[in-house]
Amino acid sequence: MRITNCRSCDCDDLRVILDLGSQPIANALLSDAELSRPEMRFTLAVAFCPACALLQVTETVPPDVLYRRDYPYFSSFSAALLKHSAEHVETLACKYELGPLSFVVEVASNDGYLLRNFVDRGINCLGIDPADGPVARANAIGVPTIHDFFGSRYAEKLASEGRLADVVIANNVLAHVDDINDFVAGFARLLKPTGVAVLEFAYAMDMIEYCEFDTIYHEHLFYHTLHGLTPLFNRHGLYLNDVERLPIHGGSLRLTVSRTPARSIQLDALFAHEAALGIDKVSFYNDFADRVRTLRDSLAGLLVSQRAKGKRIACYGAAAKGATLVNYLDLGERFFEFVADANAYKQGKYMPGQRIPIRHPDKLVADQPDYVLLLVWNFAGEVMRQQATYRERGGSFIIPVPEPCIVPPGAPIDDTQFAISPTRNPAAPHGFSKGGHRATPLQS
Ligand SMILES: [Zn+2]
Repeated sequence: MRITNCRSCDCDDLRVILDLGSQPIANALLSDAELSRPEMRFTLAVAFCPACALLQVTETVPPDVLYRRDYPYFSSFSAALLKHSAEHVETLACKYELGPLSFVVEVASNDGYLLRNFVDRGINCLGIDPADGPVARANAIGVPTIHDFFGSRYAEKLASEGRLADVVIANNVLAHVDDINDFVAGFARLLKPTGVAVLEFAYAMDMIEYCEFDTIYHEHLFYHTLHGLTPLFNRHGLYLNDVERLPIHGGSLRLTVSRTPARSIQLDALFAHEAALGIDKVSFYNDFADRVRTLRDSLAGLLVSQRAKGKRIACYGAAAKGATLVNYLDLGERFFEFVADANAYKQGKYMPGQRIPIRHPDKLVADQPDYVLLLVWNFAGEVMRQQATYRERGGSFIIPVPEPCIVPPGAPIDDTQFAISPTRNPAAPHGFSKGGHRATPLQS
């Protein structure tokens, strides 16, 4: 269903800043039997709200269609995410002096990958998640987890039982909830007067600046900035008080919110930076669509020219962002030989739209394609280290954003070079100055 009004402030003057056309559901992997049936497609476009500065997709896909995936997503599959989570818990436990009498709630807690760190420390915690497979896994490892959606209704239930939270954690979920006002109202109801909510989400400013358009898909209803979130939280009596920029997922924010205003220097500084860029004005987004088209043309040119030379190309990572990328490239079925993915639930299926077969990562070494287009570029270092044998045998990776770049077999892997904002090596536009090559010269 196409929206006419802003999901946050109800303004009816939304301006489309990027239109990626009609796209299949990014996570709707296909079985062999489904290949003969047409796929559902929905408009994938992002609009800016001039009244409250929130970026959002224009189409709401019904949840029963959007989340009709028959494989569970387990966060514990990613070593990088596990490390990131353990460090986050360490920081929270120290900063807020959490102990046996504290109560921590995590919204969208998946398989308990983060909360298990609180359990290990003897700190009371509760997870809430709508996916039954991961919820069962979390409870099995001793992380108390409720199978439900979070919102004002569930917060009211906990509050009525006297279970108000010292800390509420919500990682990578703030972009997914259509009724964003009810969701934020839930935080306001659940927090103790001195409590804090700590939220992580992809930072839209990094998405725009580094042209990470593939992070746009129907499940991501929102693309957040401090300017877009401030009116939303203030409306529910909550204040943005601290912020930290993180390199994870192509540039994220960790935002701390509480009931009383107490803005940190870091928050003031980033807010002022956004204001100086004009992030609250539609003109800031004027060239984004042009840059996205330029990136697509450059990447398609590189891939097509290599195929014309007889090179064989596979992909890595059958993730949602990969679906947006390959379907926007639209190079045709069978252009890519296969896509490698470590998730056994995905192997044997096909990516939507372009219908690329998903195989075990061992196939990279067995088949040794010349190039691997790295669809999950946010885990570049981790994936390329795992694929050391493929690289030693002469395989090259292609990283698509912020501009197409080839990582040849001998190039060193340094995570600070692969990270995109704010820890990216500023000396190298893509971080591959040491032995890496920009894609463009290879097109000659
Ligand atoms: Zn608005």
